[in-house]
Amino acid sequence: MSTAAATVVPFADLHAQYRSIRTEMDAAIAEVIASSAFIRGPFVEKFERAFAEAMGVAHCVSCANGTDSLYIAMHALGVKLGDEVIAPAHSWISTTETITQAGGTVVFCDTDAATFTIDPALIEAKITPRTVGIIPVHLYGQPADMDPILALAQKHRLWVIEDCAQAHLARYKGRRVGSFGQAASYSFYPGKNLGAMGDAGAVLTPDAALAKRMAMFARHGGLTKGDHQIEGINSRLDGLQAAVLSVKLPHLPAWTARRQEVARAYGELLAGIDGLTLPQVAPGREPVWHLYVVQHEQRDALARHLAGHGIQTAVNYPVALPFLPAYSRFGHPPADFPVAHRHQSRILSLPIFPEITAAQMQAVAEAIRSFGASTA
Ligand SMILES: *Cc1c(COP(=O)(O)O)cnc(C)c1O
Repeated sequence: MSTAAATVVPFADLHAQYRSIRTEMDAAIAEVIASSAFIRGPFVEKFERAFAEAMGVAHCVSCANGTDSLYIAMHALGVKLGDEVIAPAHSWISTTETITQAGGTVVFCDTDAATFTIDPALIEAKITPRTVGIIPVHLYGQPADMDPILALAQKHRLWVIEDCAQAHLARYKGRRVGSFGQAASYSFYPGKNLGAMGDAGAVLTPDAALAKRMAMFARHGGLTKGDHQIEGINSRLDGLQAAVLSVKLPHLPAWTARRQEVARAYGELLAGIDGLTLPQVAPGREPVWHLYVVQHEQRDALARHLAGHGIQTAVNYPVALPFLPAYSRFGHPPADFPVAHRHQSRILSLPIFPEITAAQMQAVAEAIRSFGASTA
């Protein structure tokens, strides 16, 4: 079959979501334009309050994107030259490039084979007198194993920043992620579970003083115009994005429930296919399925086969962080992070989004089954 098949199942469908809330969305955007509240202002303040409340954390500091939210949090926590920060070997590069931006040193830790999240059993061996913090990533929407991570952080007096970019509303032992550490980072990149119509991000924290330092740093070092207490950066949420996010936020629980239904349905449709490993959920975790990631020995051939059937897939991510050219300075061989290394050639993200239809899921399952048959 040729590779130019018409799209039957897109990887995500942002327009379908827009159509479902078009009237509300268009009105909200028109209101921002009518009031010219483009940077900060009432729409931003309203969203910050609503998001903090929805996530159950006292303070929300919005900013320009999720990457900045990590940088802002680390800067405000006082990361300085030589400080070591432990992060998973398997994540999006934002998690670790911001450690370096803040002046720190990245220390990678391998992930757990079942959940793709940082393996708590391997963290303690990475802790040195220079270690200042740990950044667990709730990757693909499944919470990291927070209890042992928090116990280690307490024992060694380290801070924890949760990277919640893929995990809005996910729960660990009944409690929402984003409420465990000193700070929690969120991205509202359009394809995230809560997405803006452009770049946007936020940090949550229970700590009022930390919230103030983060807000100041993000806004040129001052909370009122002209009053620069410190040198900062320019990382602000704009009014249009805040209005878009305020319209979407009340829909997030329903969209999340729908992603969970889709994951359950995939679990049934894809059960028992030879060579295919389905995502596993560890006890006590309630994932929100930002991505539905299967594993297959012949991942690239499977992806081509699906593309031939009009099914879009993605690889998140094709090279684990320590093995990227960006980190060649560490000279890490695959044996340093065997789990992340093994996953990088096996993982495949299938289409998942709240509006995906039963027929589309069926088409994905049939195409995967026919790959099994074609290689048997
Ligand atoms: C998307 C993402 C980020 C960064 O978000 P941006 O808004 O794109 O800057 C950080 N960490 C993880 C795990 C992500 O998936």
